[in-house]
Amino acid sequence: MLYDVIIIGSGAAGLMAAISALNTSKHVLILDKNQKAGRKISASGNGKCNFTNMVMGEEYYNGESSFVSSVLKQFNEKDTIELFRKIGIYPKIKNNYVYPYSEQAASVVACLVSKVVYGGGIIKFDEYVTDIKKEEDIFYIKTSSGEYASYRLIIATGGVSYSQLGADGAMLDIIEGMGHHIVKPLKGLVGLICKKNVFRNVSGVRVNANIALEIASVNKKPIKVKNSGEVIFNESGISGIPIMQISRYASKALDEGRKVKVYIDFIPELEEEELYALLKERRNNMNVVSIYELLIGLINNKLAGFLDREKLDINNDKNLLHMAKYIKRFAIPITQTNGWDNAQVMAGGIDTSEIDSDMQSKIVEGLYFAGEIMDVDGTCGGYNLQWAWSTGFIAGKNAVKMERGLD
Ligand SMILES: Cc1cc2nc3c(=O)[nH]c(=O)nc-3n(C[C@H](O)[C@H](O)[C@H](O)COP(=O)(O)OP(=O)(O)OC[C@H]3O[C@@H](n4cnc5c(N)ncnc54)[C@H](O)[C@@H]3O)c2cc1C
Repeated sequence: MLYDVIIIGSGAAGLMAAISALNTSKHVLILDKNQKAGRKISASGNGKCNFTNMVMGEEYYNGESSFVSSVLKQFNEKDTIELFRKIGIYPKIKNNYVYPYSEQAASVVACLVSKVVYGGGIIKFDEYVTDIKKEEDIFYIKTSSGEYASYRLIIATGGVSYSQLGADGAMLDIIEGMGHHIVKPLKGLVGLICKKNVFRNVSGVRVNANIALEIASVNKKPIKVKNSGEVIFNESGISGIPIMQISRYASKALDEGRKVKVYIDFIPELEEEELYALLKERRNNMNVVSIYELLIGLINNKLAGFLDREKLDINNDKNLLHMAKYIKRFAIPITQTNGWDNAQVMAGGIDTSEIDSDMQSKIVEGLYFAGEIMDVDGTCGGYNLQWAWSTGFIAGKNAVKMERGLD
C-alpha cells in the first residue's frame, strides 16, 4: 500500500502530525520502534505532563529566533489548549504552567492515540526504521520487519536523551545521509556534576537560591547566565529547575573545553552588607559560639554545617564579612553534566536553516520534520512539548496539502 503520509515516531510531534494530517487524508501511517506511543509524554512533568505554558514566545527557546517565531505564529499555546479540549484534555493552569485536569500524563497519550486511531490513522509498533530512500517521488522506509512506501514523509523521532523512551541517534545519521547538516547534539535540561562530590553531606537538601553560571572566555569577559529557584543538592552535584535552565550553556562550554563555574547565592533577599549586618546582630543577640550555630534558623541545618567548613572564629568581624561573601557568592567548579539518560532534552539536531516554515526540508522535497529532532530546545515549563505540538501540527497539515491528488 502506498500511504499519503508516513510519520516516523509516535511521540508528541508524531501524534500531533497524524491528527493534523488526518483532517485532510485518510492514508496516514505512524511507525515506531517502541511498543507504546508517547513514552516521553508519559514521563513528562513527573507523570503530570506540563504540556504548554500560558506565557509563550521565541525568547523561551534556544534556536534560530525567526524560525521559532514563525512556528509559534502558526500554532501556539492557545491552539494547543483549544485542540486538546476538543479531544478530551481539559486544562489545569498553575502559575501559567498548563497540565491536563486529570494531572495524568497517561491521559494525554490516551486522548491523542484515540484521536489518531478513530480518525483512521494506523500506528505500527516494533518498527525500527533503519533506512530511507526516495525514488521517483516516493519514499521507501525500511524497518526491522519490512518496507513501507509513501508520497510524503514526516520524521518526528525526537532527541537522543532518555534513549530508552525515544531515539538513539541513528536517525540523525540517516538524515545527514540525505544531505542535511546536524548541529552537534548536546545535553539540555540536565543536572550538573561538581568536583570531588563536594555536596555529598548535603545530599537531598533543597534551597531557594539565585545562581549564576560563569563560563571562562579567552581574551574576553567571562560569559554569565543567571537563573533562580529551587536548587537540589545531590551526591555528585546540583540539579533543580534553575540548574536545568542554565545547563545547555554549561554543556556547550564543557564540550568546547572551557572552564565552567556556578555561583550560588543562598540568601538572595539580602544584599551582602545587609547579610553582614544581620550576622553581627545575630551574634550579639544569640548565645552562640560557632558559625554553624549562628546560621541555624537562617539557613537549612545541614547547609549551615556545610558552610561552616573553615570553623572560623565567630568573634572576629572580618570572619563574619567573609561568611556574608561566602553565602552570597559560593563558587563551585562544574566538571560535567549528568548523562544522556538524565537529560530531558537534546540541544542540537537538524539545522533549521534547511527547513522551511511549512516544516518541509529545503533539501529533499516531500520530507518534513517535527519536534525535538530539530535544533531548537525550550526552557522548562511546557515549552518543549509545545514545540512538538506546534511543529507536528504544521508538518501534518502541509504534508497532505499536495498539488498532486492523493486520495
Ligand atoms: C523525563 C522527561 C520529562 C519531561 N518533562 C517535560 C515537561 O513537563 N514539559 C515539556 O514541555 N517537556 C518535557 N520533556 C521534554 C518533552 O517530553 C520532549 O521534548 C518531547 O516529548 C519530544 O517529542 P518528540 O515527539 O519530538 O520526540 P519523542 O517524544 O522522543 O518521540 C520520538 C518517537 O520516535 C520513535 N523513534 C525514534 N527513533 C526511531 C526509529 N529509528 N524508528 C522508529 N521509531 C523511532 C521513539 O520510539 C519515540 O516514540 C520531558 C522529557 C523527559 C525525558
